[in-house]
Amino acid sequence: MKIKLREIKANKIKDKVKELFLRANYHIDQDLMLRLEEALREEASPIGKTVLKMIIENNKIASKEEVPICQDTGLAVVFVEVGQEVHLVGGDFTEAINQGVKEAYQEGYLRKSVVDDPVFERKNTKTNTPAIIYTDVVPGDKIKFTVMPKGFGSENMSALAILKPSDGPEEIVNFIVETVRKAGPNPCPPTIVGVGIGGTADKAMVIAKKAIARKIGEHNKNEKYAAIEKEALEKTNSLGIGPAGLGGKTTALAVNINYLPTHIAGIPVAINVCCHAARHAEGIL
Ligand code: SF4
Repeated sequence: MKIKLREIKANKIKDKVKELFLRANYHIDQDLMLRLEEALREEASPIGKTVLKMIIENNKIASKEEVPICQDTGLAVVFVEVGQEVHLVGGDFTEAINQGVKEAYQEGYLRKSVVDDPVFERKNTKTNTPAIIYTDVVPGDKIKFTVMPKGFGSENMSALAILKPSDGPEEIVNFIVETVRKAGPNPCPPTIVGVGIGGTADKAMVIAKKAIARKIGEHNKNEKYAAIEKEALEKTNSLGIGPAGLGGKTTALAVNINYLPTHIAGIPVAINVCCHAARHAEGIL
């Protein structure tokens, strides 16, 4: 059987990535805005309320005036689902994505935060590239992009534990809550806590990062994992860290778990924290 491939020009990828990074840096999703407003109604701490009001106001101004939500416009993370019936023409896939990032950050006056050599020279690449790109090949003839400008105040609070199979949900909840407690004000709370359970150490961190992009209010479809999310969120919010770390009960807005099958000998648990400037955008070609 002959399969007809759908041609997609590299230039279209570049334009889509550019559009999505500009959108993500200026506009916070409605689900997050609604959750912030709900948190404002429920927050008991006066200083916590003030911080939440400022965050909401900041997000509204950024969206109205199309200016960045935060000065840290992030490392450019791109999740791509490429349909196996797509034929890319007119250029290189990775280059097209990086060119889209470069144009978005240059034309949108977004801060360029990437250094070429992480230890010695630390010279700014001045383009905010290379992007961090994760590609999955899926059925179909479309390409889906999820872009995430990832701030490093929160990225720096990532943590990984390889738990024993006998540790179970209790130790997972403890690890999540302890990670948030140690992070304190550093990840710019209230945060979204992405948790990846299973796979390998590296894969667990990737699915933890992907969990950050889940719509607020959606829970893991497996009710046992949804129960871990709920318990971890409640315990996290009883730490008292609060908005901006100034006290209150809104330390996290969500705990989102993704999980995968893993080896009989362990349970990798990765945590990827995202600040209140939880920026992401999706688009399909
Ligand atoms: S962690 Fe988030 S809110 Fe804090 S400075 Fe970085 S991008 Fe901005």
